[in-house]
Amino acid sequence: MTFKSLGLSDALLKAISKKGYETPSAIQQKAIPLILERKDVLASAQTGSGKTAGFALPLLQILQNQPILHKRPVRALILTPTRELAAQVQQEFKDYSEFTALRSTVIFGGVGANPQINALRNGVDVLVATPGRLLDLHSQRAVSLSKVEILGLDEADRMLDMGFARDIKKILALLPSKRQNLLFSATFSKEIKKLANEFLHQPVLVEA
Ligand code: AMP
Repeated sequence: MTFKSLGLSDALLKAISKKGYETPSAIQQKAIPLILERKDVLASAQTGSGKTAGFALPLLQILQNQPILHKRPVRALILTPTRELAAQVQQEFKDYSEFTALRSTVIFGGVGANPQINALRNGVDVLVATPGRLLDLHSQRAVSLSKVEILGLDEADRMLDMGFARDIKKILALLPSKRQNLLFSATFSKEIKKLANEFLHQPVLVEA
């Protein structure tokens, strides 16, 4: 199996080889084709499995195949539990999108909001966010979520452990109902299954 055989674009393949990746990891082999088919995916994936590229690459490819919208509203939203993870995930989006016209940014709490608000004002295709800061900036009308068509939850179990269930529900209510949903979690507790039932539509289960 190669990245090319997974159906990824030349721009993404160029970025992948620049990163030095040779073969897609198990989670990538399974998740990338399903996400490209626009399925909702429920994935059990540990840190170190290559899970981030497993959702970032197909998501960039989907966005690349669509026209860039006027004002560049957020089309893909990734929620993460911590600012460290948010920053790491966005760095990967940046690396993989280097040879595309797509833009991403990251927002998280604990730092000033103004640079984040300015970045959003310039328009982004992919937004990586922690839940609290996202709700905060949304209530300030600094970010529009009305054009989000792909939602990803990364390390969803940690998000629930950290008490983000209510914030996640509030965010779900702000998104268009027609969208693709991805849930990545290291563990599958009863709570994760309940959350998955609430917002995934006929999800395909991926275990790697
Ligand atoms: P993750 O599980 O997403 O945190 O990724 C763990 C690390 O593996 C990251 O540093 C990635 O850059 C790297 N990585 C992801 N996919 C591959 C791959 N197919 N081959 C080699 N390294 C990879």
